[in-house]
Amino acid sequence: MKKGIIVLISGPSGVGKGTILDRLIGNPALNLTFSISMTTRAKRDKEVHGQHYFFVTYEEFNENLARDNFLEHATFVGNSYGTPKDYVFNLLNSGKNVLIEIEVNGAKELISKVAPQDIISFYVMPPSVEELVKRLRHRGTEDEATIMRRAEKFKEEIKFKDQYNFTVINDDLETCIEEITTLITKRINEK
Ligand code: 5GP
Repeated sequence: MKKGIIVLISGPSGVGKGTILDRLIGNPALNLTFSISMTTRAKRDKEVHGQHYFFVTYEEFNENLARDNFLEHATFVGNSYGTPKDYVFNLLNSGKNVLIEIEVNGAKELISKVAPQDIISFYVMPPSVEELVKRLRHRGTEDEATIMRRAEKFKEEIKFKDQYNFTVINDDLETCIEEITTLITKRINEK
């Protein structure tokens, strides 16, 4: 059986990643399964444990770290996040492509660990920082101080964009999804 590939997507929170990921997962031709990360962050209202994340305590997170259970891990705005290793490898070995949505430091670690032909990576950008702040305010899941921290974080993160295979700007959602879908399809067909 042909082994799957990793589809890595990063981008600031509020850029529209959630919708993009849902649409990619919902496209059967891409044969994608979402990698569920572990995090110490508090659950947001609409999130479901075991679907969006595994929400764990710092103790549980550190136990997993000590057992070398993460493919990569990072701290983001005061919380820990990690990609469970066995889960991802089992999916790849069963022929599934795995969608991994993580921040830039973890992405750097992941890219360095995986052979280039086994991964395709994207950095999704907003048209501007102002537009990002506007979208975060509209989403209403974070307070103003957190929104400002996340906007500042984006200004740092953008420096990492060259480590990805592709940078895509989410100005028009449909165009952005189409662009990413075309590039993934091309890569799958090449393998
Ligand atoms: P949020 O708290 O908004 O869900 O996620 C915050 C940031 O953490 C996002 O940039 C998201 O991509 C990243 N993230 C989510 N899961 C992981 C993970 O397993 N590893 C790393 N390195 N980052 C993650």
